[in-house]
Amino acid sequence: MRLTILGSGTNIHPTRAASGYLVRTDNTILLDFGPRTLENLLKTGVNRHRITHILFSHYHADHFSDFITYFFDAMIFTKYQGGTRPPLTVIGPRGTKKFFQTLFATLPGFTHAPFAVHFKEVSDRAFVIGKTTVIPRTVTHTQNLHCLGYRIEYGGKALAYSGDSQYCDSLVRLCGDVDLAVLDCSFPASRPSPVHLHAGQCGQVAREAGVGRLVLSHLYPITERYNVREQAGEAFGGKIVVARDLMAIKL
Ligand SMILES: [Zn+2]
Ligand SMILES: [Zn+2]
Repeated sequence: MRLTILGSGTNIHPTRAASGYLVRTDNTILLDFGPRTLENLLKTGVNRHRITHILFSHYHADHFSDFITYFFDAMIFTKYQGGTRPPLTVIGPRGTKKFFQTLFATLPGFTHAPFAVHFKEVSDRAFVIGKTTVIPRTVTHTQNLHCLGYRIEYGGKALAYSGDSQYCDSLVRLCGDVDLAVLDCSFPASRPSPVHLHAGQCGQVAREAGVGRLVLSHLYPITERYNVREQAGEAFGGKIVVARDLMAIKL
């Protein structure tokens, strides 16, 4: 399994794209699709038309907005440029179907894509994509919003992605004994937010879950001024990496 970080920042950030991750197993899967991550996806050299599954943690714009550009391009490619592509399955939390129904009904042409598109709402039940097991788990982010973290297992390795999350038991369970956890490290420990983890809590989650390697991601611009690696390291003795866009990690 290979992870490539497409975006490790947030909506507006001087050097990082917003949230997006490319996971390569027996399938090519995207986790979130925030602004500027499509540009980074192109830089990886992956054929964007072979992506079959996009998994969303939630629909805050910093996790979603490049999907619109991606999908519009896929329609042009298949409609006017003689291209073909496999069906696209879009997976996300409660509300996913209604969200895309509304969006597709509003954006010109989106309901007439010449390839199959499937929308699937998931909660806390595992499913498979080919030989890859995906375990979504509800995490706590903002009030009244269903947010998911994802655990992906393939070839005897496990990866966890928090999505956006506060510290919560379900996040610790999601990350239980994974080889690698990518956690929402929006803020430094000294500038906490009520809806995101801070660096110290990332370390706490990693320690409690018995994570192999911890990747700190989803950094807000202000967070660049602090040593989040050191802050996370106060709670967690394992390997800690601060994410960079286009960083590739083999599991
Ligand atoms: Zn969010
Ligand atoms: Zn976010």
